[in-house]
Amino acid sequence: MWRIFRPDTVEVLSDEKARGALGRYFAVMENMLPARFQVCKHVGVGIDLSASDEELWSTHERGLKKFRKLLADVDKGKTKLKNLKQTEPSLLDLKVELAKRILRSCHFCERRCGVDRTEGEKGTCGVGERSRVASEFMHHGEEPELVPSYTIFFNGCTFKCCLCQNWDISQDPKGGVEVSPQTLAKLIEANRREGARNVNWVGGEPTPNLHVILAALNECKTSIPSVWNSNFFMSLESMKLLFGTQDVFLTDLKYGNDACALRYSKVNNYWEVVTRNHRLAYADAELIIRHLVLPNNVECCTRPVLEWIARNLGSTARTNIMPQFRPEYKAREFEELRRRTTADEMDAALKIAREVGLENVIS
Ligand code: SF4
Repeated sequence: MWRIFRPDTVEVLSDEKARGALGRYFAVMENMLPARFQVCKHVGVGIDLSASDEELWSTHERGLKKFRKLLADVDKGKTKLKNLKQTEPSLLDLKVELAKRILRSCHFCERRCGVDRTEGEKGTCGVGERSRVASEFMHHGEEPELVPSYTIFFNGCTFKCCLCQNWDISQDPKGGVEVSPQTLAKLIEANRREGARNVNWVGGEPTPNLHVILAALNECKTSIPSVWNSNFFMSLESMKLLFGTQDVFLTDLKYGNDACALRYSKVNNYWEVVTRNHRLAYADAELIIRHLVLPNNVECCTRPVLEWIARNLGSTARTNIMPQFRPEYKAREFEELRRRTTADEMDAALKIAREVGLENVIS
């Protein structure tokens, strides 16, 4: 049915630019290659999971090197996963253990609240030890290559964006229903059978739920591309845990400077953290970068964002320049955000993209 409403979801299958930026994603989607998290399960790490944090992290570093070698061999057809025995604990088991430990002094994101979420303490996001999901369904509104996308919306967020379009979910960490990794794994398997091109972790924000997401992937028996759809304010530790588990980082580069990030999302040190994470994600997997053009923010945000992408991720970086801003939630508290983005502002954004040499733009 989605093929009728969204013919672009079929056309994209033969789009050379999309395939150029997301070649492995397409191969996993079409069952030609296994998802990264399934490869991760086949990397034995040979450690007792009760070892010290330091030992676990150094084993994780070594495990990642083994993972990258195995992934290259699998992709070249030199090794077939089905011919390998799964040795426990695997690199993914180790990631699950490390994520559980982070939860006791939470630093999943760079707010680094340090609260013990296993003891009921809450940080800025307000998310508890267990994850809560507002909704999960086959999403038909994402980028064409992702549709249909089995999308899981977690309650709660690490940001406090005045302009959030999902504020009823993101600012309500107590809403939704509690879900276990086992339930999520079963839902993913069922939706893959129904034709989902990927599982898409979003919210709110997936970051406070990293421990549950990794555990769900560890339970999941099917191969399906995993898409990390996030504000990209993860801590370095979370980035390391994500390495080797996500096929696509669906990023959000909202602001071109720290002042706008603080003003609209109440977050410090935005630019340094988010650009660092984009570089790391680009080195690990494939990317689709989103940028929402805000009214009156083309020069301070859109221009530096697009310049940065072209300079650091290259002219072929798949970039979605989005026009759909609406002044919702608390956006009207800011005079410059009290209207929609104009056609002139979108034209200016696309002109900047051309000027800086971006060649793979979705708009
Ligand atoms: S995920 Fe939540 S509790 Fe953890 S550091 Fe970030 S805002 Fe704080």
